[in-house]
Amino acid sequence: MMIGKEITIALSGNPNSGKTTIFNNLTGLRQHVGNYPGVTVEKKTGETKYKGYKVNVVDLPGTYSLTAYSLEEIVARNFIVNEKPDVVVDIVDSSNLERNLYLAVQLMELNTPLILAFNMTDIVKKSGKKIDISLLSELFGIPIVETVGSRGLGSDKLLEAVIKVVSSRKEKKVEVKYGEEVENEIVKIISVLKKEKIPTFEFDVRWIAVKLLEQDRDIIDTLKKTSGPKYSKVEEVTAGAIGHITSILRDTPEIIIADGRYGFINGALREAYEEASLKKVDISEKIDRVLTNRIMGIPIFALIIWLMFQFVFTLGKYPMGWIELGFGKLSVLITEIVPQGLIRSLLVDGVIGGVGGVIIFTPNIILLFFAIALLEDSGYMARAAFVMDRIMHKIGLHGKSFIPMIIGFGCTVPAYMGSRILENRRDRLVTMHINTFMSCGARLPVYILFAGAFFPAIAGNVIFSIYLIGVVMAVIMARVLRATRFKGESEPFVMELPAYRIPTLKGILIHTWERTWMYIKKAGTVILAISILMWMLFTFPMVGNNYSQDYKGKVNEIEQSYQSGEITERELDESIAVIEAKMAGERLAYSAAGRMGRFLEPVFRPLGFDWKMVVATISGIAAKEVVVSTMGTLYSIQEADGQSDSLKTALYKHYHPLVGYNFMLFTLLYFPCMAGMVIFRKEAGTKEMLFQIGYTFLLAWAISFLVFQIGRLFI
Ligand code: GDP
Ligand code: MG
Repeated sequence: MMIGKEITIALSGNPNSGKTTIFNNLTGLRQHVGNYPGVTVEKKTGETKYKGYKVNVVDLPGTYSLTAYSLEEIVARNFIVNEKPDVVVDIVDSSNLERNLYLAVQLMELNTPLILAFNMTDIVKKSGKKIDISLLSELFGIPIVETVGSRGLGSDKLLEAVIKVVSSRKEKKVEVKYGEEVENEIVKIISVLKKEKIPTFEFDVRWIAVKLLEQDRDIIDTLKKTSGPKYSKVEEVTAGAIGHITSILRDTPEIIIADGRYGFINGALREAYEEASLKKVDISEKIDRVLTNRIMGIPIFALIIWLMFQFVFTLGKYPMGWIELGFGKLSVLITEIVPQGLIRSLLVDGVIGGVGGVIIFTPNIILLFFAIALLEDSGYMARAAFVMDRIMHKIGLHGKSFIPMIIGFGCTVPAYMGSRILENRRDRLVTMHINTFMSCGARLPVYILFAGAFFPAIAGNVIFSIYLIGVVMAVIMARVLRATRFKGESEPFVMELPAYRIPTLKGILIHTWERTWMYIKKAGTVILAISILMWMLFTFPMVGNNYSQDYKGKVNEIEQSYQSGEITERELDESIAVIEAKMAGERLAYSAAGRMGRFLEPVFRPLGFDWKMVVATISGIAAKEVVVSTMGTLYSIQEADGQSDSLKTALYKHYHPLVGYNFMLFTLLYFPCMAGMVIFRKEAGTKEMLFQIGYTFLLAWAISFLVFQIGRLFI
């Protein structure tokens, strides 16, 4: 007979989960009883044969956890780490899933080859509850076998699974996430462990970091012993991390981490366990019965988002007004101090116009991040994602994608930043790439102008149709991107549902500030540079002297007729305003941007656009609302606020309504603005930013092309 391979498996499990029963089922009478070396913990070993393999079975001490509180726990985890059994079989009392899975999750974290034996399934069946074992197995990335130890059922399936795990060595690492706060500290501890070259033995370095946060005595003592004075650096970082977490979350990391594990279990069971609300109903579960209710969940979520919007945009209006006023005053001040000329224009139109246009959104951003931090820190965000998950999966996205998409209606910049809540890079990128179609607030002035000019009677409906097209495009593109560049089945994973907690003000303020500061920093650096560049494009080359000479002559003429009393003072002012506007228009036409517009006109002609529309589109790269003022300048209209009837009339005279609608579509579809792209690059890298610019531009062109070419047939 062939001499088979030898395999060692270790049975772990809570006390009374049926470990010894299954051990006996597997090994029969071939058992040896002894002690673990150096301790008085009983060690039972045995063996069996299966399909040519010799299987050694070790019965580990029964434990509820793998912390270092009891000798049994230390013995069990040291055996797993040091002896490296080929497979750990965790015997789970499936009639008491939540509690038993706590140990299972810790075994997953230990990253050892693992199989779960769901024992006591007869009790589960009798109680009428249903566990979707194949889904749980998929979520955990671990084989699960059903057993009824007391009736000797499932042993063969268990051995079959053991052999499969041993021969396949499939690596799927399940990582329980403990929330941003703890995760950040874990990163810090990992980096100091690596920097100080602290030996981590056979342990996973992340696991060591988590144990340090939990203040695991056994691990601390071991590290102290083996790394000597180098450990003090680790100790320092760990103490800082614990202090930080405790002050923000008002609980020790140990409790937060335990909560995180239960959150993971809770999230998994919510999907795979019919009777999700387990025996002991705590406050979190009571709240969840309402907030994640099948029927009420979505309306409640919609209401909360609506409230958030009200909060952000209603309250944000006031400080926004103050900032606008401040920048206005600053412009006036500069106009008074700096003599007319290029420097003044650079400061007022370039720097204040550009950077100010970005800074002005800061109150919205602060409020938005405040609201998000509140929802996140309280634990609601995890529920919102949970509620939206089913719907979002239909378009190939994840429940959490919904939140940045909603934010996108306000401003795409924080929406990109908000996409960070998606841990999976593919999900995050798809979400960011489609977020631009959620029409942001800055595009609205453009719609108001064009819809007002071409469809005054039905302007509201026309604008709504643009928003709707945006949402539809987002859905379509999500599916397209998923099927092409971001292909790959979306792996199911557990959405943690941690317990609710009352957020601390300190924590919320810190989160809000960190994100806001990043936004402001960008406005002061990259966006400043781009603003100056845009200003140069729209300023140089300048119209030759004779042009301005020409206008000076006209102004003189008018002033003379005022002097001679032919016209009133009001008429004088009006006429001069008209001349100045004309001058601005001509200057713009003469500038590089104006030339670019004319140069690129042939590319846009199939969409029905003329060079002025092209120039406006270029200016919209800076910020979408700038499109309105550029159109105003090009049509030599002084007050280009989008409300002015003269600009609307001018547009109406110059373009067919089809072209007007098409221009709105184009404005919706091409990438949001330079601030957005700067953030996009920061969040996703240069390559993805270029892809975003390229594909949205091509898409905008293609859609507008189709609309114009098809629409043309009907007019
Ligand atoms: P251990 O503490 O994990 O070693 O658990 P034991 O193997 O001693 O089992 C505890 C009790 O559960 C015993 O009375 C077993 O007969 C019983 N038991 C084991 N497996 C099952 C099962 O699948 N279903 C039921 N109903 N009882 C079981
Ligand atoms: Mg036992």
